[in-house]
Amino acid sequence: MGTIKASRGTQDILPEAVRIWQQVEATAREILARSAYREIRTPIFEQTDLFERGIGEATDVVGKEMYTFHDRGDRSLTLRPENTAGVVRAFIEHSLYAQGGVQRLWYTGPMFRYERPQAGRQRQFHQLGVEVIGSRDPRADVEVMALATDMLQTLGLTGLTLYLNSVGNPSDRHHYRDALVTYFTPFQADLDADSQERLTRNPLRILDSKDERTQAIAKDAPSILDYLGDDSKQHFDRVQQLLTDLGIVYTLNPRLVRGLDYYTHTAFELVSQDLGAQATVCGGGRYDGLVGQLGGPDTAAVGWAIGLERLTLLLRQLQETSLPDLDFYLVSRGERAEAQSAQLAQQLRHQGFSVEVDLSGSAFGKQFKRADRSGAIACLVLGDAEAEAGTVNLKWLASGDQEAIAQAELLDKADSLRQTIAAQRAGI
Ligand code: ATP
Ligand code: MG
Repeated sequence: MGTIKASRGTQDILPEAVRIWQQVEATAREILARSAYREIRTPIFEQTDLFERGIGEATDVVGKEMYTFHDRGDRSLTLRPENTAGVVRAFIEHSLYAQGGVQRLWYTGPMFRYERPQAGRQRQFHQLGVEVIGSRDPRADVEVMALATDMLQTLGLTGLTLYLNSVGNPSDRHHYRDALVTYFTPFQADLDADSQERLTRNPLRILDSKDERTQAIAKDAPSILDYLGDDSKQHFDRVQQLLTDLGIVYTLNPRLVRGLDYYTHTAFELVSQDLGAQATVCGGGRYDGLVGQLGGPDTAAVGWAIGLERLTLLLRQLQETSLPDLDFYLVSRGERAEAQSAQLAQQLRHQGFSVEVDLSGSAFGKQFKRADRSGAIACLVLGDAEAEAGTVNLKWLASGDQEAIAQAELLDKADSLRQTIAAQRAGI
């Protein structure tokens, strides 16, 4: 019998990598809190209808990528492929609109799409996203874009391009759709199979095609920017002006149409120059139609989602993998010494130090080697003699300097130890 492996398109995030995830989450939390965003947590599965209505049946996500199943009560449920629909459902279900004003929400967690796995594309992946619900103001569009660029820059990412477009309102899009059908119909036979089908169902999405021949044809397709009505134009102009005021550089991309049906006006993506084919780290836009479409009061909204696998992939290229921030590695041998080492470790932890206890019971030489590899700043050594005398040997691993010190004294001078450890960690 073979061993069991993780399912295709899923991956384990091992402790080394988890550090980067935690760093991303901590940075995100801090930046979001500073901008008055509050976290929301919604279920990982929802009724299938929610996504069919909230994302649109003509999209790849709903048409081909959903993990849909029937539970034992024969309900059709779906593992969430994204979380805007879930957040909006919660917004309506709990009448968050009754609180008045603007709801600034954020979430993070796993999403599920049945896709062909490759670097930066999984079947279970993670997103961190924001939704600002209740404002039609172009300042909200710019606030969320600024938040995304700020977050990614704070994490140390460079080489990102902000692509910007407007997909107008449904009436603009109606006219534009006709223009696209007129343009693409003569090329119908040359389009990829998906795009041929989109020609009738969702022609805007042909612009999204990754097929080279289709892309070459789409290059000369009419631009949506020529089909924006006065309201849409005004909104889009204001967005661009405010971005410029904030010093945020963007590139117009009239081919940028988000894959989901409920988007209106602003659409944007943050694309990395340092990722391969799956280069879009963040995608978002305005979705003024969604709350109403899901049965809530007509409510404008804007948001984005960052793909955390792609983000952490980039961060791993930037950072050397580092060891944990360990203060002490505790080495001991002999029954009495081992018992004392457990106590000493506990007391040090209560003082706020991080301590790893060697549990191997092997020879001192082997334990010292592990101490060197542990990334600890200092090694504490307890043998029979030290246990007898109530002392411990404190060895600074960078310099090799060591001293014998009473265990009680070690605990007493916790403050000065803390300073020495901090200084050594900073390389002073
Ligand atoms: P793509 O064109 O790459 O399929 P998308 O338009 O389907 O992206 P969105 O629905 O906008 O993506 O999701 C936002 C972000 O989530 C993407 O920019 C990407 O970073 C990430 N993402 C989407 N699908 C996956 C996946 N299967 N695996 C990993 N990350 C993903
Ligand atoms: Mg996709």
